[in-house]
Amino acid sequence: MTKAASPVGTVHLVGAGPGDPDLLTLRAARLIAGAGLIVHDGLVDPAILALADPAARLVSVAKSRSRHTLKQEEINALLVREALAGRDVVRLKGGDPFVFGRGGEELEACRAAGVPVTVVPGISAANGAAAAAQIPLTHRAASSIVSFVAGQCQGLTEQDWSGLAGKGRTLVIYMGVATAEQIADKLIADGLAPETPLAVIERATRPDMRVLRAPLAGLAALVAGEAVKSPALIVIGEVAARNEIELRQLALEAGA
Ligand code: SAH
Repeated sequence: MTKAASPVGTVHLVGAGPGDPDLLTLRAARLIAGAGLIVHDGLVDPAILALADPAARLVSVAKSRSRHTLKQEEINALLVREALAGRDVVRLKGGDPFVFGRGGEELEACRAAGVPVTVVPGISAANGAAAAAQIPLTHRAASSIVSFVAGQCQGLTEQDWSGLAGKGRTLVIYMGVATAEQIADKLIADGLAPETPLAVIERATRPDMRVLRAPLAGLAALVAGEAVKSPALIVIGEVAARNEIELRQLALEAGA
């Protein structure tokens, strides 16, 4: 007995990495090149979208803090609608789909509608930025705990970040540019030393990337003075103060 091919398309939740097209996974590159429909958010670099078939339909669902073109529910509905109409969809997201990417919500929406989903991991901004700026997220001599937090969420002051930053730890803050001042105040109020080193990495892995350094107490002045713009990450901890040579020396001292 033969069964008719399923008329339902598949949604691929695909991580596009931090910007540089060379940092796509092979699977992501293959899916992008073969896609008939790509639904992408604003962080996806034009150089990556240029890898799509010229005949492909590209739908931008770019979001920004102040301007929402499509609400998340509408994005979910769009993915489900297209898949139920029999089309495969490449849902392309900056970084990794499951790190502050709302990939979990899209996965749930597809599952609830009976739409098959695959997930293709991407290099998250923290990993891309750390590599590009040569700031190791962990280091035997400096840090053995890494935390990723979102700096933009409502109720920043109510979030419990205690213990996430400090000696032996690295704190990576996504979406923290607009709230940089509140972030520094919050961490200092939690007991973190105002001189704790940090780096701000703007547009990591892109040709115009900037890496800026300051002590924690100088974060707001740095962001304002250098006119730091999103997308940028804030990396807080001892690792942010070290360069490659210092790190090698420290590793030797630690007996690595
Ligand atoms: N899913 C993405 C994160 C989306 S949230 C990931 O895994 O990377 C958006 C935030 O990611 C931005 O506000 C910024 O903090 C960070 N970000 C994304 N791309 C970046 C880049 N190239 N350089 C620095 N930060 C970046």
